[in-house]
Amino acid sequence: MSSTSSRRRFLTTALAAGVTLTACSKGAPAPAPTGTTPPSGTPVRTGQEALARLVAGNTRFVADRDERLDEGLARRVAVAEGQHPFATVLGCVDSRVPIELVFDQGLGDLVVVRSAGEALDQSVIGSLEFGVAELHTPLLMVLGHQRCGALDATIKALDAHQRTSEEAGQIGYLVETLAPAVRRVAGRPGDRLTNAIHANVDLVLAKLRQSPVIAPLETTGKLKLVGAYYELDTGRVLLT
Ligand SMILES: [Zn+2]
Repeated sequence: MSSTSSRRRFLTTALAAGVTLTACSKGAPAPAPTGTTPPSGTPVRTGQEALARLVAGNTRFVADRDERLDEGLARRVAVAEGQHPFATVLGCVDSRVPIELVFDQGLGDLVVVRSAGEALDQSVIGSLEFGVAELHTPLLMVLGHQRCGALDATIKALDAHQRTSEEAGQIGYLVETLAPAVRRVAGRPGDRLTNAIHANVDLVLAKLRQSPVIAPLETTGKLKLVGAYYELDTGRVLLT
């Protein structure tokens, strides 16, 4: 692509986003982009509306008709000055569950925190508190997923009566953190790993409800907490 057509495309895209452009002399640094932060979809005011938007995005993802995922230049310029994400999501680090992709959301839409098995520690909890209290997202979702390797490893470690101190690095910390979910489903019918994944989402939600930042937001109706489960086989997110 020639520089002329490339520049024309940039201008067209930027102007479409309502960005004000000012001329700059050759060699001088470009001025910082200005403008508002247009939502990439219908404005979201409540947790229920935020959830509906996530569900709609996942429906598009499942149907392989991604439409709203907006990571283009216009959107990047538009959100550079500020952000108004509509949901905070805690998910696993699993490479097959990228949060923005499975919900078909773009730049500036989601606050995403990821840790193996959605394990909580101070940084994870603090990051989630930042999302709901400082960035004011009306929805906080904990998203577990099918065949989670972190919980599977925890099951295997507990079955082997392996002491967490025997694990290399901080993996032992992860096993220790996820172990209550595995113990909770001992003896239950059905697939043990799937049961543990669901139990883990429930335990994570219960612990987040103990946060002095998150709890009052939920009790005053400013924040909705939900658990969910991502099916690797179908791409669907099921609410729990
Ligand atoms: Zn996982």
